[in-house]
Parts: sequence; structure tokens; C-alpha cells
Amino acid sequence: MTNLTGMRSIDRKERLLIPREPVPQQDPKERIENFFEVYEGYDAEAAVIEATRCLQCPEPQPCTLGCPVHNDIPRALWHIAQGDFFEAYRAFRQTTTLSEICGRVCPQEKLCQGVCVVGAHDEDPVFIGKLEAFVADYVRENGGINLVPDHPTGRTVAIVGSGPAGLHAAEILALHGHEVDVYEAWPKPGGLLIYGIPGFKLEKDKVDALIDRLEALGVRFICNTCINDDGQPSVSDLYEDYDAVMLAIGSGTPSTMGTEGEDLPGIWQSIDFLVATNLPLSDLPESAPIPFVEGKNVVVVGGGDTGTDCVRSAKRAHAATVTLSYRRTEAEMPGRAEDRKFAREEGILYEFLTQPIHFVAGADGRISEIKMRRMKLGEPDASGRRRPVPIEGSEFIMDADLVVLALGFWPDDKFTKKVEGLDTQKWGEIKVDPMTGMTSKVGIWAAGDAVNGADLVVTAMSSARRAAESMDMYLDALTEEYKQMGIGGPVVQRRSNSQKLM
Ligand code: SF4
Ligand code: SF4
Repeated sequence: MTNLTGMRSIDRKERLLIPREPVPQQDPKERIENFFEVYEGYDAEAAVIEATRCLQCPEPQPCTLGCPVHNDIPRALWHIAQGDFFEAYRAFRQTTTLSEICGRVCPQEKLCQGVCVVGAHDEDPVFIGKLEAFVADYVRENGGINLVPDHPTGRTVAIVGSGPAGLHAAEILALHGHEVDVYEAWPKPGGLLIYGIPGFKLEKDKVDALIDRLEALGVRFICNTCINDDGQPSVSDLYEDYDAVMLAIGSGTPSTMGTEGEDLPGIWQSIDFLVATNLPLSDLPESAPIPFVEGKNVVVVGGGDTGTDCVRSAKRAHAATVTLSYRRTEAEMPGRAEDRKFAREEGILYEFLTQPIHFVAGADGRISEIKMRRMKLGEPDASGRRRPVPIEGSEFIMDADLVVLALGFWPDDKFTKKVEGLDTQKWGEIKVDPMTGMTSKVGIWAAGDAVNGADLVVTAMSSARRAAESMDMYLDALTEEYKQMGIGGPVVQRRSNSQKLM
């Protein structure tokens, strides 16, 4: 272990001279043969050195402001620099229950790390995300922390969806002493974390351990249950059966292009493709289609993180060639630059300023080639990004015997339309009170991508926390009301509301 005493005494100027501690990575040739994470993670000694680079800026610290859940990063990093990883983890847990996830999948270069003062000194910013993931892993591998829920309240909560928002809310509510049931349509709990994010960004054992932790707190997961589907329980049933309901259903309806031939055999929606290439058959529904990727020329259409996840998954499934087509330039791409760097190292090709105009079938009726058109950038559109404009006469043919469409997602309006009294917004997002996360129907809350549209894990977590704390207050009030009416519910001795995540 590093000499921590020596580290502690060094001043700000000396800290700025410490180079970033690299995180060991799998070699590209090795990693395209597996679905393990690219980064192999810090060991304790390297984490101490990296955390020592933090200048312990005075409040308001930019990194904390840059984090959507306002993690107390300087405090956590100070504890890491002292070698006290359990205290560091507790510092993160004041505001998050998903450090092992966010430390891996947050676009830190645009959030906490993007505003780190060390980065403003022409040095690499402190590797905050890698340190957060390290302490979460370290604590889990060394026995975890003792989470003690409040006395049981007798109040019951149903959460629909076990993605990041559902899991974060479940842990908060369970720690408050409520009985929590989480309904999940897929065979395993974890939602997006299991079925949407590939293993090379987030190995599934981290999610499994998170589920185990919640089950130890009494949270029950009811899988293979698609709420509001025919023959399955409805939100109205849950509303009757539980004291409160949270809709954390994500944003899983894929966008389409409206391009000729888009529904040809061999053209996949991104989520189906990711699920089938990343997970063992045992974790898939029996009806899940399985693509045959080996030796194929794969083209993925779409410039977000999902597109990059798909090209890298296709590479690991032994495609012959993998190309990503995006209609703007790399500068306008919404996905993470780091993932594109990894993708290029793994042999992915990029065709910027291109757009499919016709998916063409071969003699067997399956996708065979794509008629593409080149684009140029015009004036900015409503999003502020420059609009792609077709270049007349620029059409060309691209070979493609497997295509994946990664064009973005919308909330599922088929689900929300079945919930009487539930107001939604223009694109189907569930409308909530921004202060409480409660929907237009009293007793039902919503959080995550179902409210925000497709967004980050950390923003889903932020809205889930707001909603869960509001639900807790509602359930408290309900208990008081019941007590005054002399019906049901145990006498509730609540502890202080502070530090519930501890
Ligand atoms: Fe950074 Fe995300 Fe962790 Fe916040 S939650 S400190 S943004 S990695
Ligand atoms: Fe440390 Fe960077 Fe945050 Fe300053 S901005 S406290 S240097 S992590």
C-alpha cells in the first residue's frame, strides 16, 4: 500500500504535478473476443494515488455541481486518498445507491470530470468515475456495509420496472421500512442495466450483486410480468393492491425511419440486437429472436451510445465488417467519445454524413444492400445542431447483410394510455410534478426515462430519488391518516429521516 502519510502532506502544487494514474485495460485484439469490461479497474494503491490528485477545491466544488445527483466527490476522494474506502463509499451513498453503475456508465467527461479544476490546468482531470466504481467494488468484495432498514411501516409499494430508476427507488423505499415489490417484464431484474448496456461497459455480476443487496433488504422482484399487457396485472390492479405505485418503465419504444425496405428480414431494432448478442439464452424470453452475425457485413444506423454499443457487440459476435452510418459529422454525435475511440481500436468503420434512402432485398428476400445518400451540414435546427441536408446525385450502394437501427427511443404510449387519469406530454413522457415526481393521478409516481425521455442512468436515478422521498412522505401521511381513522397499519416508530441510504 502506498505511503498514505506522505500523500496526505503534499500541497496543491505538488498534487497538480502527479500524472493521472492509468487504469489497466484489455488490449483491443483480446477484448473483441469477449464481453468483459474494457477497463480492468484500479487496485487500492493506484486509487489512492489518483484520489490524491484532487485539489479539495472549496465549495461550491465544480465536480459536485457537475454531477446530476451532486455526489460529495471531494469528501469521497479525500477518504480514498487516506485509504479509507468504506468511508469513501459512504460519502457516495449519501446521494446514490448506484456507484458501481454510474462510475462505469456516466459520461463523466461531460459531467463531474468535465468540470474538474485539475482539467482546467491542462492536466487530465481526476478520474472520478473510475474511483467511484473502485470503491463500490472494493466495499462489495470486502463484505459490504451494513444496511439497516427502518422499522417496518406496513405500507406497501409497487414499482413497475427494474431499471436504474426502479432499483434506486426500491432501495430508498426499502430502507425507509416499506414493503417493496418490483415488477419486471424480462426474465431477470435489472432492466436496461442487464438488457440494454453491453457487458463490455458493465459486467452483469455487478448488477446481480445489486439485486442481491436489494433482496437482502426485503425487496421482491416479480419477473416475466408485463404490467398492462393482456392477461397480466394492470396498473389499476396495483393501485388497488398497494399503498403507492411507481412507474419506472423506461423509454423502450424504438424510433423508426420511414425508409423503404426498413422492415426487411435481417434488419434489427437495436434493443433486440443488443439483448440477443450480449446475454446467454437462459436470460432471454423463449420467444427472443437470435441474429446470426458471424461473417456478415453489418451496418448500424444511428450516432448515439446505443449505435456504438451495437457496432461493438457485432464485432464481438464475429461480423466480417462493421460500419456505423450517421447523418451528421462526428462533432454532432451525441454518444460518448471514449466509446467511439474504443470502437475504432476494435476495427469499427464510420461513414459520417450518410443516410440510408432504400434498404434493398437480395434474391432470398433478406436485406442485401443499402442505397445511401451523402449529406452536408446546413443551418442549425431546433436542437441547435446543424441540420443534415442531402447532396443531390451523391447516392451510392453499401453492402449490408445485417442492419441494426439505433435511432433512439420513445416512452411507451400503449402502456400509459391504459392508465386512467395519467397525463402525458408531447412525445409520450409521463407528466409529473417536478418537485415530487407524482403523476396526475394521486398515489402514482413516475421516474426515469419514462418521464425524461431516453437519458442517462444518473438522471434516471436523480428523478427516482425525488419521487421515492416524496412517496415516503405520502406513505407516512397515509399511516397517520389510517391511525386517526383507527384502521390497519402497525404503529410506526420512524427514525430520523437523515442518512437513509447509509
Ligand atoms: Fe460522476 Fe456520474 Fe458519479 Fe456523478 S454519478 S460523480 S456524474 S460518475
Ligand atoms: Fe477535486 Fe476536481 Fe472536484 Fe476540485 S473539481 S474537488 S480537483 S475532483
